[in-house]
Amino acid sequence: MSDKSKKYGIMGGTFDPIHIGHLVIAEEVRNKFNLDKVIFIPSGQPPHKNLSNVTEPEHRYQMTLLATISNPYFEVSSIEMDRAGKTYTVDTIKKLNEVFNEEVDFYFITGADAILDLPTWKNVNELLTLCNFVAATRPGFGLEKMQKGIEKLEKKYNRSIYTLIVPALQISSTDIRNRINNNQSIKYLLPESVEHYIYKNNLYKSSENGGLF
Ligand code: ATP
Ligand code: MG
Repeated sequence: MSDKSKKYGIMGGTFDPIHIGHLVIAEEVRNKFNLDKVIFIPSGQPPHKNLSNVTEPEHRYQMTLLATISNPYFEVSSIEMDRAGKTYTVDTIKKLNEVFNEEVDFYFITGADAILDLPTWKNVNELLTLCNFVAATRPGFGLEKMQKGIEKLEKKYNRSIYTLIVPALQISSTDIRNRINNNQSIKYLLPESVEHYIYKNNLYKSSENGGLF
């Protein structure tokens, strides 16, 4: 795949909400792998999460736009949100390969927890032939455990998976949602624009309904 002229990162996630942990791993991978850009793709109906617990795609898309707008190398795609039914990474990457006419090498970016989940994804064998994978370290998911898990995956699927040590940020969307629901501060855990969007739209309060709880 190395004779292709461009390298794009794909940052998939629920982004409920997007936070600094997502932005840092995307930027670190872009930088270390010399990517031309990173496309953030908020999930539509996430196959691994109970739909009723996930905020409407439109809100997650808007927050992702706000969070990425100041980085000229970041883009947001609604490709998964626009597809009806459950969305799977393998279908997204196939679609992107069609759109970009196979001129682009894709680097799918994940955190340590997500990469270890890979065997549960749809058509993993095929997926690993369609794009590269880069797994970034994540607090709570030890480096050693991640590396052992990746070695197993590499043997099982006979493909290489890149790993990258990134500045550790113990931030998760779950923690941010819980903080909001408990009237705790979320300042500095996510961009200020996203923080304001959350308050303006009354998201993540159990009495209101941003789709949560
Ligand atoms: P939730 O708590 O709702 O699962 P999350 O913080 O894990 O949210 P996701 O949207 O599930 O965010 O994650 C998207 C991708 O970003 C995944 O590959 C995940 O591993 C990675 N990721 C999220 N937060 C971090 C972080 N703090 N450090 C490294 N990777 C992260
Ligand atoms: Mg997660």
